[in-house]
Amino acid sequence: MASHIVGYPRMGPKRELKFALESFWDGKSSAEDLQKVASDLRASIWKQMNSAGIKYIPSNTFSYYDQVLDTTAMLGAVPARYGWTGGEIGFDTFFSMARGNATVPAMEMTKWFDTNYHFIVPELGPDMKFTYASHKAVNEFKEAKALGVDTVPVLVGPVTYLALSKPAKGVDKSFCTLSLLPKILAVYKEVVADLKAAGASWIQFDEPILVLDLESQKLQAISTAYAELESALSGLNVLIETYFADVTAEAYQTLTSLNVATAFGFDLVRGTKTLDLIKGGFPSGKYLFAGVVDGRNIWANNLAASLDTLNSLEAIVGKDKLVVSTSCSLLHTAVDLVNETKLDNEIKSWLAFAAQKIVEVNALAKALAGQKDEAFFSSNASAQASRKSSPRVTNEAVQKAAAALKGSDHRRATNVTTRLDAQQKKLNLPILPTTTIGSFPQTVELRKVRREYKAGKISEEEYVNSIKEEIRKVVELQEQLDIDVLVHGEPERNDMVEYFGEQLSGFAFTVNGWVQSYGSRCVKPPIIYGDVSRPKAMTVFWSSTAQSMTKRPMKGMLTGPVTILNWSFVRNDQPRSETTYQIALAIKDEVEDLEKAGITVIQIDEAALREGLPLRKSEQASYLDWAVHGFRITNVGVHDTTQIHTHMCYSNFNDIIHSIIDMDADVITIENSRSDEKLLSVFREGVKYGAGIGPGVYDIHSPRIPPTEEIADRVNKMLAVLERNILWVNPDCGLKTRKYAEVNPALTNMVAATKLIRNQL
Ligand code: GLN
Ligand code: ZN
Repeated sequence: MASHIVGYPRMGPKRELKFALESFWDGKSSAEDLQKVASDLRASIWKQMNSAGIKYIPSNTFSYYDQVLDTTAMLGAVPARYGWTGGEIGFDTFFSMARGNATVPAMEMTKWFDTNYHFIVPELGPDMKFTYASHKAVNEFKEAKALGVDTVPVLVGPVTYLALSKPAKGVDKSFCTLSLLPKILAVYKEVVADLKAAGASWIQFDEPILVLDLESQKLQAISTAYAELESALSGLNVLIETYFADVTAEAYQTLTSLNVATAFGFDLVRGTKTLDLIKGGFPSGKYLFAGVVDGRNIWANNLAASLDTLNSLEAIVGKDKLVVSTSCSLLHTAVDLVNETKLDNEIKSWLAFAAQKIVEVNALAKALAGQKDEAFFSSNASAQASRKSSPRVTNEAVQKAAAALKGSDHRRATNVTTRLDAQQKKLNLPILPTTTIGSFPQTVELRKVRREYKAGKISEEEYVNSIKEEIRKVVELQEQLDIDVLVHGEPERNDMVEYFGEQLSGFAFTVNGWVQSYGSRCVKPPIIYGDVSRPKAMTVFWSSTAQSMTKRPMKGMLTGPVTILNWSFVRNDQPRSETTYQIALAIKDEVEDLEKAGITVIQIDEAALREGLPLRKSEQASYLDWAVHGFRITNVGVHDTTQIHTHMCYSNFNDIIHSIIDMDADVITIENSRSDEKLLSVFREGVKYGAGIGPGVYDIHSPRIPPTEEIADRVNKMLAVLERNILWVNPDCGLKTRKYAEVNPALTNMVAATKLIRNQL
């Protein structure tokens, strides 16, 4: 019985690759230094899997930036603006594509399916010349071989690669990137020949595109592509790997009919329906790589349950054809639990990071082969049992309160137009009110104050005074700028989710539980392990302190339940909706406490609501339903005169505009400036919108200062589509990553532009 790992994190247990990359980019270390760190990391991962007993060990899942960009390099698909003239692609060209350079901007980056990992989007056109320009796959295969480890080289599959590509600038938007299939297959054939010559006996093609709702044309491309590769692949065992969801019946049919394939890999954690497809028929003589160990979360596997699943699969595909695997690459989970010094032993016993998941995969494979490690299985069983019964996990009052929510819709009693009138009487705001999204620049000194307070180096009093001073500065600045609705600047927050998680029960935090987000950037999601409750008010002190410094309305600033959920490692022992409702109740208490303390405008950020949208259309309506419901729960209890704002990032929400309306916030501020005002097109097309709306008037991701005329122009464009009395003026998102030298002039211009237009109205 064999074991397989789909892919492994690259960053290293303590983010070694991140630091090596950043030091290289800063010119502080050489290319050789960076390569040394990288090859040491690869070697240790291969050896780790090898000694754990994994049979099919992946290679080429390492990357200096991103595996899709690696594929672009492999195919020589470098956009002309980088001036590459041929030959093997080196760090210069590679990192210019990833990050831009002094003269040329980077390629676009976007989310990898529904994960928080971002890939570099290939830019293709009919004239692109493809050549075999990066030998990374074969080099890594040889490197592992020299270490005595026989690996399975992994390539991003040709159809997934093309389907995720976009037409380059200047190419007709309707250009079908899949039409380039014959051209890229020519290069794939060269790569395959190279791998064969180097002694590979297996090859893995990742085709996660197969989990989407695919048009027949894309399914056809799968058949065509792999038929075309057939002779090149002869003599090799070919694994076609899918992940992140179940495959549709049509995709399953197409996939399992591929002659060339020896093996198929499926995600059986998120893709439970695939199990039924397999039970309905699996091609005889082929291998099933069964992804039963979750690559997207940090929970220890329920080994007994997995073993049951595997046993039932064994009956279908045969003993020697079943391979135990991970549900997807372990890239999307934390690296190694061994480095968690702050988690207590009970919580630790419930967890498995990438390094522990390897051991789980192998233990399952051995158990299937009749060599069950009884001690390992029984300690796993007791950990599962302790997690089920621990009083730290279950809080009956919370469960009851969450259960009582069912059956009600939770809508504010009055409609939004009436509420806005009541609010306006109280707030008395000018037309086109100006505001910002929440955070102000986080200076080095500010981070130092928080760090020292956490480490016990400064007293609470000193800490509170420093933060108060910071708030006072931010308030004074906004008054000088003549902004209408103020924020306190969020100086006490490290991160908009962590800040709340640390004050809620049911959350745990890791020291090294980093997950790659893009390039060298990693995030450290909190772990939600138990029922969520709010022991005491979280933001009231800071918000009322800030309000006491000004006569203008001060926004209370909260993170919404869906965003807290989507940016955490969540429980797998109850539906995500349930966890959301629990968080919603905690935030509801906070909203009501803020209202009692005299805060009249409260913003509840749902920055990540859109990104939690399931991959498969059939699951989207239900997600949006409970997500939007969760948001409404937070503010159903406030008076008409309390103005509820929400804020959303990410520019692609035209598809969920009706859910946004259904959130029933009084005002929404929304990222807009990088999307060619795509948002406005929905209103142009007649979507009725009655609440206040602030489509961002400038991009905060860039250091560029937007000129007054440019902002005025944007506002005028919005006025052409939206009624003037619902329009707000604000930046795209929080200002935390910017410098005051940028924020001051940008906001000055924003207010000037607003006044210019007010005078013309
Ligand atoms: N209020 C948060 C801030 O301004 C919102 C951040 C976000 O949308 N990502 O920082
Ligand atoms: Zn935002």
